Amino acid sequence: NKASLYDQQKDTKVTFEDVAGLQEAKAEVEEVVEFLKNPQKFTKLGGVLPKGVLLVGPPGTGKTLLAKATAGEASVPFFSLSGSDFVEMFVGVGAARVRDLFKQAKEQAPCIVFIDEIDSIGRTRGRGMAMSSNDERENTLNQLLSEMDGFNSDKGVILMAATNRPDILDSALLRPGRFDRQIMIDKPDLNGRVEILKVHTKKLKLGQNIDLRVLASQTPGFAGADLANLCNEAALLAARREKDSIEMVDFQDSIEKVIAGLERKNKLISPDE
Ligand code: ATP
Repeated sequence: NKASLYDQQKDTKVTFEDVAGLQEAKAEVEEVVEFLKNPQKFTKLGGVLPKGVLLVGPPGTGKTLLAKATAGEASVPFFSLSGSDFVEMFVGVGAARVRDLFKQAKEQAPCIVFIDEIDSIGRTRGRGMAMSSNDERENTLNQLLSEMDGFNSDKGVILMAATNRPDILDSALLRPGRFDRQIMIDKPDLNGRVEILKVHTKKLKLGQNIDLRVLASQTPGFAGADLANLCNEAALLAARREKDSIEMVDFQDSIEKVIAGLERKNKLISPDE
């Protein structure tokens, strides 16, 4: 069904305030917010607006969140879909979905179209294993490229996409007039982790002696999504322990749990290690 294939939110309510750290990335998308608010201001001197912004970085670092916040800041609709949804699809369906998505988006411009995991449709073409799903992926990619060429961003449709594998992307996607802007989103450093913990503990009932800086120093390598997960685990653990506020020990015991979960996930990805 169509609704599950892409998601449309009229008003995401997510703003830059929800995105902790990522100062440089936010400054770059700030420009996109300006375009969306007033496309004509930028095109009246003959300039051409960027069409596509590619967010590059490891999983869980806030790429989707940042795209959503860009829509939220500009108060425009946010269309999103995931490239991986297109992988197993009947012939012609993926391309038709892309066409339909862009038609909707043009009708509702200014807006943002976000494609998560774009590498699953945007992998280099023509290195095909002889599989029909691969052909269909290429059809979908070709449709995406032709849609990108066919619209003028002065109408205010800005395409954002995310990947953690920019190296496998088809170079056609990165040409001028397509995803010609790239923004790197890295895992947070110590200060970044403090900022993210601040955002995710805001709604929690914390005890007296919570030191977010200490927690940040105990979580090197955690992405934003892991820290969000940690905060929630700590809240659940404290509740299970019948407490009425969350204490350091609840966070610390949860760090162990989150790390164990991350290790399990890594094993699944690379089973020989
Ligand atoms: P993926 O590549 O796996 O799709 P992503 O980079 O798109 O990951 P998000 O889906 O944006 O990551 O992040 C998942 C969740 O992690 C967010 O909804 C948010 O709760 C939390 N999170 C990640 N980064 C940040 C951040 N910088 N500030 C606040 N919360 C964050």
